[in-house]
Amino acid sequence: VNVKAEEKTYTIGTDLTFAPFEYQNSSGTYIGIDVDLINAIAKDQGFKVDLKPLGFDSAVQAVQSNQADGMVAGMSITEERKKSFDFSDPYFDSGISMAVKEGNNSIKSYDDLKGKTVAAKVGTESATFLEKNQKKYGYTIKNFDDATGLYKSLENGEAVAIFDDYPVLGYAITNGQALQLVGEKETGSAYGFAVKKGQNQELLEKFNAGLKNLKASGEYDKIINKYISTGK
Ligand code: GLN
Repeated sequence: VNVKAEEKTYTIGTDLTFAPFEYQNSSGTYIGIDVDLINAIAKDQGFKVDLKPLGFDSAVQAVQSNQADGMVAGMSITEERKKSFDFSDPYFDSGISMAVKEGNNSIKSYDDLKGKTVAAKVGTESATFLEKNQKKYGYTIKNFDDATGLYKSLENGEAVAIFDDYPVLGYAITNGQALQLVGEKETGSAYGFAVKKGQNQELLEKFNAGLKNLKASGEYDKIINKYISTGK
């Protein structure tokens, strides 16, 4: 009897709400670029995925405490993170931007943030950027565990400005959220799939091999175009 070898299942952490990379559709199913990408790579490379939408910082902790084998969460590849993570090849170029409530024309640059409260999601590049520049611009920082609290903070006046990745802010605006971007984007980094440093190297190799195959077959572009309209 020919018994097909059991496909290995990897536990992969992801963010709770980070559209268009991971979010729930109206029936509560997780969809998005990261979700489609990891599933397509798993199919291509013959493994199974147990996707855990934990929230960004919780996914970081889960990988570091070996409760998840890896994470795909619009995670920027940074030098600081390379001390504790190994990253795949980059799969999406991104960066951060500031946004205010639609119609708020009083915040024109970072200089207008003095004495005001600005917000980001805990553990993200945006949060790090805010900490780094706090002295320079003299604002107060409020960190939120998830995007829901972060985006609501503009409406309920808990913050005058929020910082997040610009593809995510752009997607929110395209989908009717009452936001406007302010100023230049901060040149950011690219997103990568991550495992704990020195561990799950075979999973990292499978991710890279699968990504390469999806790019060659056109499947990668299909996934991106499904979620991000190029206007073409
Ligand atoms: N790209 C940002 C980071 O890596 C934000 C990721 C996220 O919020 N899911 O910090």
